[in-house]
Amino acid sequence: MKKLLYLFFALNIIFSCNEQKKEMTNTTVDDTQKEELAPTPEKEITDPKETEVWDPEPKAISFNDMNVPSDAIQLFNGTSLNQWISTKDSTAAAWTINSDKTMTVKPGTGDIQTKNNFGSVQLHLEWKAPDLVKGEGQGRGNSGVFFQNKYEVQILDSYQNRTYANGQATSIYKQHIPLVNATKPNDQWQTYDIIFHAPEFDTDGKKTKSGSFTVIHNGVLVQDHVEILGSTEYIGPPKNEPHGKGPIKLQDHSNPVHYRNIWVRELD
Ligand code: MG
Repeated sequence: MKKLLYLFFALNIIFSCNEQKKEMTNTTVDDTQKEELAPTPEKEITDPKETEVWDPEPKAISFNDMNVPSDAIQLFNGTSLNQWISTKDSTAAAWTINSDKTMTVKPGTGDIQTKNNFGSVQLHLEWKAPDLVKGEGQGRGNSGVFFQNKYEVQILDSYQNRTYANGQATSIYKQHIPLVNATKPNDQWQTYDIIFHAPEFDTDGKKTKSGSFTVIHNGVLVQDHVEILGSTEYIGPPKNEPHGKGPIKLQDHSNPVHYRNIWVRELD
C-alpha cells in the first residue's frame, strides 16, 4: 500500500512540473518586455573625426633614380654580382655584367642564387629575352626565378611562342596557368612584381599553411594570390619537404636571357 502511495505522489510531481513548463513556454512577451529585449540602436556618428585613425603612422620611404624603394635590398644594381653565388659550388657568380647596367645568363655556368636567405618577400625584377629569337616552346628564352630554391615563377619568351600553358612565362611552373599572356616581344624589357608568401611547417615537419604567389607582369595581374602546392617539379607532383628561409635563385636554362634592376623587400 505504502509503495502505491509513493508512486502516486511521484507521478503527481512529474505531472505538475510538465504543466509548469508548458505555462512558461506559452507565456507571451508583452510590449514592454519586447522593448527591453530589442537591441539599443547605435549612436549615430555625425562627426567625421570619430572614424579617423592616426596611429600607427606608416613610415615614409623614398625612391632612388632607378625607382628602388629605400626599404628594399638591391640584389642587382647593374654594377656587381656580389649579392650572388653559383648554386652548384657556391663560388662567385659567373654571369656576364654588361656596360649598360644589365647582366646576361652565361649558358653552361649554372644557376645563380642570393648569398642571403629570405622568407616571404616582394620581389621586383626586369628581364629581356635573348637578342636572337631562336628555338621553340620551352627552348626559347627560358630562365626562371625560384623562391627558397623550390618554387619557380617561369621566365620564358612567351611572345608568339606556344608551349604548355602551365609552363609559359609567369606560370607557377606546372601548377598555375597565368590569367593572360602579357609578354612583350624580345626587343623590349619586361617587369615582374611578385608577392611571395612562404609556406609554414610545424616542428614535426608537417605543412600547416600553404605558400602563395601574386604576380604582376608588365603592370598586369597574372597570378592572383594562388596557392603553392609544393615544390615546382619538372617531373612528377609537387613535394612538401619542410624547410625554412632560402635563397632566391635565377635559372641558367642555356638561353642568354638579360636581367636588370632586381630588388626585394622582406615581408616577415
Ligand atoms: Mg625555367
